[in-house]
Amino acid sequence: MQPDVIVVGGGIIGASCAVSLQQAGMRTLLIEAAQPGCGITAAGMGHLVALDESVQELDLCLFSLKLWRDWVDQHPGIGQVVQTGTLWVAENDAQLIEAQQRAERLNQRQWQAEVIRPEDLSQLEPALRQGLAGAVRVTGDSVVYPPVIAYRMAQDLVQLGGQLLCGQRVNSLRQGSGSSVSVMLDDGRQFSAQHVVVAAGLGTTTLLPEIPVFPRKGHLAITDRYPGRLRHQIVSMDYGQHNMTEDGLSVAANVQPRATGQWLIGSSRQDGQLDTQVSPVAIGAVLQSAIRLLPCLATMHVIRSWAGMRPASPDGQPMIGAHPHRPGVWLATGHEGLGVTTALATADMLTSQLLGKTTAIDAAPYTPSRFFNGVTGR
Ligand SMILES: Cc1cc2nc3c(=O)[nH]c(=O)nc-3n(C[C@H](O)[C@H](O)[C@H](O)COP(=O)(O)OP(=O)(O)OC[C@H]3O[C@@H](n4cnc5c(N)ncnc54)[C@H](O)[C@@H]3O)c2cc1C
Repeated sequence: MQPDVIVVGGGIIGASCAVSLQQAGMRTLLIEAAQPGCGITAAGMGHLVALDESVQELDLCLFSLKLWRDWVDQHPGIGQVVQTGTLWVAENDAQLIEAQQRAERLNQRQWQAEVIRPEDLSQLEPALRQGLAGAVRVTGDSVVYPPVIAYRMAQDLVQLGGQLLCGQRVNSLRQGSGSSVSVMLDDGRQFSAQHVVVAAGLGTTTLLPEIPVFPRKGHLAITDRYPGRLRHQIVSMDYGQHNMTEDGLSVAANVQPRATGQWLIGSSRQDGQLDTQVSPVAIGAVLQSAIRLLPCLATMHVIRSWAGMRPASPDGQPMIGAHPHRPGVWLATGHEGLGVTTALATADMLTSQLLGKTTAIDAAPYTPSRFFNGVTGR
């Protein structure tokens, strides 16, 4: 059966889009080069977090977080979901003021946040060091295990009557006859549909070299199991401040208690890196920043470390919407370090746009055409 829409890439973004499109009545084919969820979706932290570097970012996060609540309700027991909340930790008075402002902004949007005094911190999280300036606790944030969720979404697609093709790489897109678009697979097969959604993460540029998605490397480490030692995802107020060393490495402590009792420790950001090899300098800096907040980590066993490439865009915002120069081609990519959090909002907005409906939140900040400034695509 010929699909109405083909989604290329079965990461958390493509899998979310495929389910949403199928639910909206479009016959959907999802094509994944390997297995759903095995790309960057398997390399990140899975923190579902309300970030608020801009009003638009907060809009996107809050819309998506509400959709995640529904998803979790509909999928009990799937994806190691824990409502850890986030504890944004301030190490000095300046950071505390910023943390208080964050709490005000989130509370104004009914995303509950409370300021924690330094003297109450040790009771809330005994592993934190003494002498911190305070914190903000955001109770609605949570933690999931993204590869399992993307895999489950791909199964849901099939249950809903959609098609899934795994282990098949799309090597090119072509304008087909009439208004259709064709995708060519490595094995020579070809599929056509009225719409093709490219959600291939960093693989997007192989198919569409004009799309400005680039890799932003991040390092993580994970400990052995220490159940009950940490309750919240602990994030330094340095996070997102982009304090960089000379070689462009930026590090901020971000420690997540996993459902297994393990601590997942991040994270770093670095552009211009060619491979995912673990850098001793970067992972050392990540661990040191975490130990500065949680000294007992120095005596815990770290059992593995790895690095992954976030699919970033030049302005830090994802691309969700029509390709400006290729009729029938749509983009859902460039989600950098927030792709798990914003996956469901992305899928909802992409589906609305593709069906010509009004989006639930303003789609203008995410329109791919913002990077083209009148330059024609190939
Ligand atoms: C260290 C780190 C920490 C992170 N922490 C968080 C966090 O706490 N919270 C959060 O929200 N986000 C986090 N992220 C970001 C998040 O993981 C990504 O934004 C998200 O996973 C991107 O999903 P994606 O589907 O776009 O990409 P991917 O998961 O890479 O999926 C793309 C898929 O497309 C397939 N593909 C590529 N090319 C082709 C082709 N030609 N044909 C067919 N298939 C193709 C690939 O095999 C892959 O499965 C983190 C990322 C990193 C690296």
